[in-house]
Amino acid sequence: MTTAPVIGVTAGRLVDEAGRVQHRLAETYLSAVRDAGGHPLVLPVGSRSDVLRLLDGLLLTGGGDIDPRAYGDEPAGTEVESVDPERDSTELALIRQAPPDLPVLGICRGIQVMAVAFGGTLIQDITQDVGTPIRHRQSAPRHTVTHVVDMHPASRLASIVGWRLPVNSFHHQAVRTVPSPFRACGWTADGIIEAMEATDGSFRVGVQWHPEDLAPADPGAVRLFRAFVAAAGAYGSGAHG
Ligand code: MN
Repeated sequence: MTTAPVIGVTAGRLVDEAGRVQHRLAETYLSAVRDAGGHPLVLPVGSRSDVLRLLDGLLLTGGGDIDPRAYGDEPAGTEVESVDPERDSTELALIRQAPPDLPVLGICRGIQVMAVAFGGTLIQDITQDVGTPIRHRQSAPRHTVTHVVDMHPASRLASIVGWRLPVNSFHHQAVRTVPSPFRACGWTADGIIEAMEATDGSFRVGVQWHPEDLAPADPGAVRLFRAFVAAAGAYGSGAHG
């Protein structure tokens, strides 16, 4: 029997006005996975890594900043926002303990989690640390593209979305150093890393933009989710029938 690939989707948290912790996940992540043929399974903060056995793919979603101590830095000050150490440890454990061939898509914070998990480092604040004329934190609506990303022509990502892709941008941090087994495969003109992918043939792709908010109208965003869910389907049929 064929079933939809199960895609684990990580959730974030916030504290509401009553002081209760609430889990939070934008609907657009779930609809993008569903529209691509996947079955989303929400993974709350605190999920243990044995849940990986249930998954055909893992989607690491956007959110607050990773504690800089996770990559050997001290917090540079007020530039670091909304740190949730338990979310950090949950997601870092998931990606580290995932089978190397489990398809993974990391979005925004997710590409940063993938990098940090394998020994990479981050730019804590693009404006402060680098300076650029490109607005990586756009004020335009989330479904609006505001800057382009140039892909490495020989990358898997370029084969999915093309060599040059207009994207949206809602980040103030970025990957600084890309660890093995990844390579950078997409950049803005200011040199900021906007995408990376595994070099071992597995579908492990990270993007700094938010394709879930561009789908379903944007062909590049739709193709990325379809490729991810297709990889998850292939993984699932090989791993557990
Ligand atoms: Mn950007």
